[in-house]
Amino acid sequence: MRRALGSALLCAALAACTAQDPTPRAAADLIIAGGHVHDGSGAAAVVADVVVTGDRIVHVGPDAHLRFDAARTLDARDRIVAPGFIDPHTHPDRYIRSGDAGQRLNAPWLFQGVTTLFIGGDGGGTPDVAADRAWFERHGVGTNLAAYVGFGAVRTRVIGRDDRAPDPEELARMRALVANAMCEGAFGLSTGLFYAPQSFATTDEVVALAREAARRGGRYDTHHRDESSYGLGLMDSLREVLEIGRRAGLPVHIAHIKALGTDVHGSADAVVAMIAAARAGGQAVSADQYPWLASGTQLGAAVLPRWAVDGGRAALLRRLEDAPTRARIRAEMAENLRRRGGADSLLLVSEGQEWSGKTLAAMARMWDVDPRDAALRVIASGGLRDDDAPSPERVASFNMDEDDVERFMRQPWVLTSSDGSDGHPRQYASFSQKYARYVRERGTLTLEQFIHRSTGLTAETLGLEERGYLRAGYHADVVVIDPKRFASRADYVHPRRLSVGVEHALVNGTPVIADGRLTGAAPGRALRHRPPAATCPIQPGAPEP
Ligand SMILES: [Zn+2]
Repeated sequence: MRRALGSALLCAALAACTAQDPTPRAAADLIIAGGHVHDGSGAAAVVADVVVTGDRIVHVGPDAHLRFDAARTLDARDRIVAPGFIDPHTHPDRYIRSGDAGQRLNAPWLFQGVTTLFIGGDGGGTPDVAADRAWFERHGVGTNLAAYVGFGAVRTRVIGRDDRAPDPEELARMRALVANAMCEGAFGLSTGLFYAPQSFATTDEVVALAREAARRGGRYDTHHRDESSYGLGLMDSLREVLEIGRRAGLPVHIAHIKALGTDVHGSADAVVAMIAAARAGGQAVSADQYPWLASGTQLGAAVLPRWAVDGGRAALLRRLEDAPTRARIRAEMAENLRRRGGADSLLLVSEGQEWSGKTLAAMARMWDVDPRDAALRVIASGGLRDDDAPSPERVASFNMDEDDVERFMRQPWVLTSSDGSDGHPRQYASFSQKYARYVRERGTLTLEQFIHRSTGLTAETLGLEERGYLRAGYHADVVVIDPKRFASRADYVHPRRLSVGVEHALVNGTPVIADGRLTGAAPGRALRHRPPAATCPIQPGAPEP
């Protein structure tokens, strides 16, 4: 030890020792020097260097300058150095699919420290996975993307938006679409059984499609049927999730776990017990969560009975014009509004509308109508827009209890997600919010737990290879964060404020944020799940195993 110190001092005096070093130093692109390195495993941070060459991490450890001759060194003293965060459930489409290259940098996520996003959640992911990936590769995106094939997209393509079951031939076509998407690199099947028309599907139908993902090493990601007390109820809906996983034979992942609405507040313990029991019995079950007390959805999905939207928007608008049918819809809306906590707890967040930033209750008073009629006015204002068009009826729905939120957050199988959607601060500020409120302010999680559940655990749970950890040989997705400044700036009234505190971010070795500013580089990749070769390409009409 003393000898090493002595030779270091001598070297400093001579300033030429490295040239005489017996082991020649390897060339490297970048040394991120002296930061508090969290490797993504949940282990305590160590002060160390991270060395990057090309798109890979080549070394993590002390004294990198003795072993590497780097083109650039970044001083990361007193900074958190961590794997780039991975967002398992989110809706970045307006950014990543934009015609504007600047939008496609995906800044809302980069400034939260997120370098990889799972897309296609809630059943929305296109079955044309290879074509989609080719589009991203051609146009360039700032973050990595991993896609799910969506049950809703598959079902709508084959049988439209109607409330009916597929016939055997239609079911075979739906299965083939899922199988093909898996062979093209989807990471699994996502569903949004809460939403019409997916809500019209039986458990059996979902199991039949999930088996196609299971066979090819995929996962089942679900916005399950009832997070509240709409129909099936929270607990039975989760039983359905577990049943789908067991019968189809694949890991299940519950998107944005929550207990939504006054009827189910306080249910977190029961939910955790059910999932813990399934895990103890050997079933692979996980969940993700965003750290906010309001969910974000469409007003129609929150308050309309499902039968009212059978057949899509045209059918809904016709029903609203028919007085007796409108009266029935209105009658059922009363219960849905109560469940959500009343018109005061629904904040209308679509931009450029008369109601932007106002609660449903405020609009009802302004228009001097019942809140239900105010809701129907907002819902009908969208006319015949298709589902991809900007929606005038987005809401932030204040329906969660912080006790439940924290109980879920403490579970070692709950990952950090944003569920980022337009008009809700979670899109710009979930990882930063979780750190600022639940690590620093409330101590719900340790810093190590927060980072592990936002990186390494996420990669392992969802099947991302060679990401999520700072390890030699892994892809160089790395963030350098100022622990004193990392925080959200967005809120419900200003949902589009970038988070602060991420000083540097690398995606596949390329800097995307440097000194707190976008570099303009778009090195993100559309990632590909690799199914067992024997299961692809698909054999049409292959018998059930
Ligand atoms: Zn969802």
